[in-house]
Amino acid sequence: MAAPDEGLRFDCGRICLDLLATSGQAGELLTGPDQLRRWLTGSGAVPPDTALDGVNGRWVARFRGLREVVRRVLHAELTGGEAVIDLDLLNATAAAAGPPAVEAVRGPDGALAPRLARPPDRAALLAAVARDAVALLTDRATRDRLRRCEGAHCRLLFLDTSRGRRRRWCSSGVCGNRERVARHRKRAAADRDGAATAAAGPEGAPPEPRAPGPPGPVPGAPRTSAPAPAPGDRRPGRAPHT
Ligand SMILES: [Zn+2]
Repeated sequence: MAAPDEGLRFDCGRICLDLLATSGQAGELLTGPDQLRRWLTGSGAVPPDTALDGVNGRWVARFRGLREVVRRVLHAELTGGEAVIDLDLLNATAAAAGPPAVEAVRGPDGALAPRLARPPDRAALLAAVARDAVALLTDRATRDRLRRCEGAHCRLLFLDTSRGRRRRWCSSGVCGNRERVARHRKRAAADRDGAATAAAGPEGAPPEPRAPGPPGPVPGAPRTSAPAPAPGDRRPGRAPHT
């Protein structure tokens, strides 16, 4: 019984990075041939509707193996390492076969669509993913956009194609949201601690309703060296959030 996608993601910006995303906080997602078929189609490694009857457990093992090689090479690259043996393995996989031959076939709607000329070959598909990693590593502009997710416990990589190059998370809806929730909780706790002496924060947590009149400091309670804010002063009373 096939689930729609079982957590597979295709938003890392490259096929080789999407392969890395099949293992992470959610655990192993390439758990069998069905999952690998879905990944191959969803990532665009093969044209839509390609028959993938030949995919079996050996394919799964090889794709998992390539995934770890790519991961080690890219992480080494990001941290100034070399990963010599893994780079050799990556290059060997890339050179092992030519890319799958694709032909243009007219579909029922009259438009030309891609179709593999032959049933997909495992070595050719592995080579296609490995070549994608080689292309990423050797293109300076693309390589400079490679980022590691800042989410706690997340080790996914992605290409930052945002306009300001300030993307921080593999997914705003996953790691980004997790961090926003954690930050909100931290702020709420800090606001509770300092509610009697500090002004409400400028953003995020909804400000406490404040009665008019001078906010008297709580005797013996201040934890900050900053002077008590004047009435109506809404400036931040603490360091900006990161
Ligand atoms: Zn992440």
